[in-house]
Amino acid sequence: MSTDEPSVPIVCDECETETRVPLDDLADALDKHNDQKHGGEAVAEVDPAIKDRLADLVAEDLGLFDEEPAEGA
Ligand SMILES: [Zn+2]
Repeated sequence: MSTDEPSVPIVCDECETETRVPLDDLADALDKHNDQKHGGEAVAEVDPAIKDRLADLVAEDLGLFDEEPAEGA
């Protein structure tokens, strides 16, 4: 079992910064940065190169693909 906490790069075009944060803190860190630096605008975001992979990872983690609700039922 791995205890490594996955860290995720957040990039901000305007600040030209890249910050790695633990996956657990991702939403908070994004919120905080955009709130403090950009008046709440969603400028900073997850590194696009990572985003797809992260979506898979998070989806797996949360089990989003386990029980998809039936559509058009
Ligand atoms: Zn910024």
